[in-house]
Amino acid sequence: MTDRIVVIGAGQAGASLVAKLHELGFEGPLTLIGNEPMPPYQRPPLSKKFLLGEMEEARLYLRRSDFYAERNIDLRTDTVVGSIDRAAREVVLASGERLVYDKLALTTGAAPKRLPAAIGGDLGGIYTLRSIADVDAMRREFQPGRRLLVIGGGYIGLEAAAVAAMQGLEVTLIEMADRILQRVAAPPTSDYFRALHTANGVAIRENTGLKRLDGENGRVMAAELSTGERLALDFVVVGIGITPNTQLAADSGLASANGIEVDAQGRSVSDPDIYAAGDCAVFPFHGEPTRLESVQNAVDQAEAVAAAMLGSDALYDPVPWFWSDQYKCKLQIVGLGRGYARTIIRPGTKEGSQSVWYLAGSGRIKAVDAMNDPRAYMAAKRWLEARQSPTADQIADTSIDLLKLAPAG
Ligand code: FAD
Repeated sequence: MTDRIVVIGAGQAGASLVAKLHELGFEGPLTLIGNEPMPPYQRPPLSKKFLLGEMEEARLYLRRSDFYAERNIDLRTDTVVGSIDRAAREVVLASGERLVYDKLALTTGAAPKRLPAAIGGDLGGIYTLRSIADVDAMRREFQPGRRLLVIGGGYIGLEAAAVAAMQGLEVTLIEMADRILQRVAAPPTSDYFRALHTANGVAIRENTGLKRLDGENGRVMAAELSTGERLALDFVVVGIGITPNTQLAADSGLASANGIEVDAQGRSVSDPDIYAAGDCAVFPFHGEPTRLESVQNAVDQAEAVAAAMLGSDALYDPVPWFWSDQYKCKLQIVGLGRGYARTIIRPGTKEGSQSVWYLAGSGRIKAVDAMNDPRAYMAAKRWLEARQSPTADQIADTSIDLLKLAPAG
């Protein structure tokens, strides 16, 4: 129990990891290093209430300010790790300082993809959305009447579009694929959110890519679309996905093609004393290398790593869940729909509520998207956690209360 543990990356996973180590009784030296200036914080509100101006920065922080010191956790903010010296078992800070470790965890998260400078991506007025600093930089642009182009119809682009529309901006969202949310959801869910945004005045343009952004005096002012159309605009939010922060791992020789490769306990496949969790980690899930980008995964995988570091042999085998807020709609997702054979749309009991059930070829459920339908979400979560499934007929029969039918939670 006197090992020295260092955790690189003070975000959702890093904060959960050190808290869990403490909870499990770890008493050795514990250091959490983060390159942002503030203590670990939650990111989901960045594209929701925080961007809307309805939430103070301090409420984003995951723990009270004295939480870390009270537990002898050496939290170092504003501190960049430059490299890992695996032979010496040392973490080398950008300042040159070296920290010895017995066990090391990488919870370095991910970075938003940016547009290439060759198509105008380096002009002023173009923003990505990952950090408090990103929101601080773009907030003053959110003024009624201004023209926003959102590039990318994933959750972050859609949430930013919703916030802007709610504040009276003129919003166009372009999506290169033939439908928004194509990477993560089935067509009925895309249809639901397209209709919701359209009803709120957002122009959703699918099958539409960006050719280039044009500027004046270094600032973006127009977009040329793949359709040949030219769009005048005031600023741009880019939501085209993220790249896991694997540079440190790769530079120190850890396998990290599309994320740091770990086993089902979060241990690097290349070094038994190095672990990874959260957005930066790829782990075996249902037989496939998988990288999840969610709070559930960051917290649960980090907690599994904490347990594994202290000798547990439990495996991380989650039922993933996720949520998104757009206008008055709360979307809750449980399970992972990839490889589904078909979907069933089940209307909810309230207006605008609906759930989309993803079924495998065997007829078992794989995932559910519940829009303003927490009962459908709860029911599906119970089935998935119990590794059981309702039948397709039961799902389709709206006279059945699925939550009553589901295994007890
Ligand atoms: P992060 O929280 O990104 O933390 C990684 C930290 O490591 C960062 O602070 C980074 O700067 C730091 N770091 C990286 N390299 C170094 C280095 N060399 N030295 C020191 N520090 C370093 N998930 C949901 O489930 N529901 C949602 O509604 C939702 N909404 C989201 C909205 C937004 C705008 C964003 C950006 C994400 C959202 N997510 C949501 C995803 C969720 O927030 C992430 O999956 C989660 O934060 C991942 O946690 P993490 O600890 O792996 O990474």
